[in-house]
Amino acid sequence: AKESGRNAYRFFLPEMTQRVTRRLQTEAELRKAIESGDLRLHYQPQIDAASGRVYGCEALVRWQHPERGLLPPDRFVPFAEQSGLIVPLGEWVLREACLQQVRWRDAGLPPLDVAVNISALQFRRRDFVATVARVLGETGADPARIELEITESALMDATPELVASFDQLVALGLTLALDDFGTGYSSLSYLKRLPLRRLKIDRSFVDGLPDNPEDAAITSATLSLARDLGMEVVAEGVETEDQRGYLCKRGCRAMQGYLFSRPLGVEEFGTWFEEQAAA
Ligand code: C2E
Ligand code: CA
Ligand code: CA
Ligand code: CA
Repeated sequence: AKESGRNAYRFFLPEMTQRVTRRLQTEAELRKAIESGDLRLHYQPQIDAASGRVYGCEALVRWQHPERGLLPPDRFVPFAEQSGLIVPLGEWVLREACLQQVRWRDAGLPPLDVAVNISALQFRRRDFVATVARVLGETGADPARIELEITESALMDATPELVASFDQLVALGLTLALDDFGTGYSSLSYLKRLPLRRLKIDRSFVDGLPDNPEDAAITSATLSLARDLGMEVVAEGVETEDQRGYLCKRGCRAMQGYLFSRPLGVEEFGTWFEEQAAA
C-alpha cells in the first residue's frame, strides 16, 4: 500500500503541476489578450417585431486567439470569472461597446441601443459605478442608449449597497435589464426594489414555443408580470416564425435571435444594417 501510495503521489504531482501551469498560462494569455486588443465584440441585432425595425443590439465578446482561432465566450468567460480577469475584461467590453456606439453615430447611422453584459463580480465591486461613469465620460457615448444586462445571480443578495448602485447607474442615464429571466433562484421581490427597465426572457423558454405548455405558461406569465410592473420584455433566442408570431400576438415586441440575425462582426453588422434599411 505504501508503494502504491508513493506511486500515486509521484503520478499525481506532475499532473497537478501541469494543470496549475496550464491555468497560469491561460491566465497570462487572457491578460495579454485584454491588453493587446485580441478581444472582439460581435453585435446581435434586436428587433421591434411589430414594425420590423432594428432598435438596438447586444454586444457579445469573442477572443481572437492567435492559435486557436475565434473563441466563443463560454470558452473563456467562466475562466475570467474564476480568475478575476472578468473585471478588466468587462471594462474593455463596456469601453469598446461605447466607442462603437460613437463610431456608428459618427458614421451617420440612426441611434441604436447597445446592450452590454455585466458579470455579477463586476457589479459587486465598490468602484463599479465610478468605472462606468469614467468610461462614459472618456468615450462620449450616450448613456440613454447604453443598457447593462445583469443576470439574477447578481441579485441573489440585493443589499442596500447594491440597490444604491443601481439607482446611481440610472441617475447616470443608463438602462438596466435583467438577463436570462426565470433561470436563477432569486425571489421576485427584487423586481419591486430595483430600477429595472427590461426583462429578457431566456432562450430556454422561447425554445419550446408555441407547443410546449410549460414554456408557453412561463412566457405568458413573464409578459403579464412585466406589463403590470411597467417593464419591457425582450425575447431572446427567437429562431422560428412560429415563435415570433406567438410572442407578437401576446404583446412582446422586442426580439433577438437567429430568425433575424446571428451576432455579427462590426463590418457584417454595417452591411446587414444597410440591407435592412434598404428593404
Ligand atoms: P447571453 O447573454 O444569454 O447571450 C445570448 C447568447 O445566445 C449569445 O451566445 C448568442 O449568440 C446566443 N443566441 C442568440 N440568438 C440565438 C438563437 O436564436 N438561438 C441560439 N441557439 N442561440 C442564440 P454567445 O455570444 O455565445 O454568448 C454566450 C454567453 O456568454 C452570453 O449569454 C453571456 O452570458 C456571456 N457573455 C457574452 N459576452 C459577454 C461579456 O461581454 N461579458 C460577460 N460577463 N458575459 C458575456
Ligand atoms: Ca445577455
Ligand atoms: Ca440571455
Ligand atoms: Ca443565456
